[in-house]
Amino acid sequence: MCPPRTLESMQSPDLSRRGFLAFGLAAAAAALALPANIHAAAVRRTTFSQVADLTHVVGPGFPLFPGAAPFTVTQVVSFEENGYYGSVLSYWEHTGTHMDAPVHFAPDGLFVDQLAVENLVVPAAVINITEKARQNPDAEVTPDDIRAWERRYGRLPDNAAVLMASGWGARAGSVEAYRNADSSGTMHFPGFGKDAIDFLLTERRIAGIGVDTLSLDPGNSTTFAVHYTLLPTNRWGLENIANLESIPPSGATLFVGAPRVAAGSGGLTRLMAVW
Ligand SMILES: [Zn+2]
Repeated sequence: MCPPRTLESMQSPDLSRRGFLAFGLAAAAAALALPANIHAAAVRRTTFSQVADLTHVVGPGFPLFPGAAPFTVTQVVSFEENGYYGSVLSYWEHTGTHMDAPVHFAPDGLFVDQLAVENLVVPAAVINITEKARQNPDAEVTPDDIRAWERRYGRLPDNAAVLMASGWGARAGSVEAYRNADSSGTMHFPGFGKDAIDFLLTERRIAGIGVDTLSLDPGNSTTFAVHYTLLPTNRWGLENIANLESIPPSGATLFVGAPRVAAGSGGLTRLMAVW
């Protein structure tokens, strides 16, 4: 087991700057000059003893949304010829465990490099719909699912990542099982319902959502209503999350390691949770 550790996370851009100041050249004096109440509010202290990796191993075999460019690896240096090892990778931004930045479905939305770090270290709320997904692969997260979670664990925390656990992550080793397409090519896997997104956007304050499937929308969607509703609000989405069943439904903190690629629409993301 891991020894208990402590982390400190900044909570707002303003307070983050104050935190930075506290460690800058003007350090001691500036820190002491801050009113005590602001200094105390600048840091949320979280203790944790467990950590989980919610990231799939990605490579050329990982299931892609149909039509996506392939993941290729070209080794360009070797120990034999160069004395060191390295490769050039080519992949669609929306591959493996990854971020959908707002601009992916919103022309005026934030690029991935513009996401505030305060919105990338957030409380995780895991909505588990595994049972209904087992009976119906087209199952959706509904407002009732969210209310049921709240009856058990309390109101969704502000700035939460609302994550769908459907059991689908276990299928990621098989392109066929993960896409679950019928004979006409229509895919069947769970996702968020649009009414759940409407509820989260109007009744709660969330940072983003995530799923353990290929898309925020259910596999049979033709309108991508969840993408087109959520992302224009400058909230983010995470797709192909792994091991969601391994973290508590409430109380974990999610670290969203989205890439800082200029003008990126998302990208490979190292996703971890601590609690
Ligand atoms: Zn995506």
